[in-house]
Amino acid sequence: MVGKITGSDAKLRDEYVVHSAHLDHLGVGAPVRGDSIYNGAHDNATGVASVLEIAGIYSRLKQKPHRSILLVLQTGEELGLLGSAYFAARPTVPSTSLVANVNTDMPTLIAPLLSVVPLGAQHSTLAGPVAQAAAYLKLTVEDDPEPEQNRFIRSDQYSFVAQGIPALHLKYGNRTPDGRNNLSEQVKQWRALTYHKPQDDMNGTFDFEAGRTYVQLNFLVGYLVAQNPERPRWNPGDYFGRQFGGQQ
Ligand SMILES: [Zn+2]
Repeated sequence: MVGKITGSDAKLRDEYVVHSAHLDHLGVGAPVRGDSIYNGAHDNATGVASVLEIAGIYSRLKQKPHRSILLVLQTGEELGLLGSAYFAARPTVPSTSLVANVNTDMPTLIAPLLSVVPLGAQHSTLAGPVAQAAAYLKLTVEDDPEPEQNRFIRSDQYSFVAQGIPALHLKYGNRTPDGRNNLSEQVKQWRALTYHKPQDDMNGTFDFEAGRTYVQLNFLVGYLVAQNPERPRWNPGDYFGRQFGGQQ
């Protein structure tokens, strides 16, 4: 599913910032504790709801951003990023006109959002708008605590990277309200009990205030990219830029 907000600048409106989320989950499968329906409430209904809210903000803006915006809900992520790979390779607009992807995959809205890990932003100029948006919302930006998990290349943003398009995916950082800053421990427990299980349903924990902040953050990052006269670039000598972005 693709939605479009047309940009306000006569030239830049032919370029697009893509906000995306996957709407598939695992369907009906092996029962866990007597339940076989894999609802996917966090993974990734929260991401889809975020993109819908982001679309709502853009559509309510009286003055649209300079660049145009695409809101893309793709399928087949759980099968291996199939929908995003198809879209990134054969977009509904000229492929050279996609300037950046801001992907939303299971923000894990189970606690207050106080800090973020912008997966992939360190590879390109997208780190700039992330820092700006995070500062505006008083969020701390942290390094990836688990680089060995390779999360940057494990969700739909990577399909855009493989087409040479700078991309990122904003995850939670570790900050907690009590100052212990050990959120990853809570997330680890949640993952063990809920992630990719039928128990990822609406009976689980949802921090809707965090959801609001998450939407504002993703919107602001996309908006800042859409406003900047310069297109996002891979950092000089970056691995992904050399591999896919036509850099030396
Ligand atoms: Zn998943």
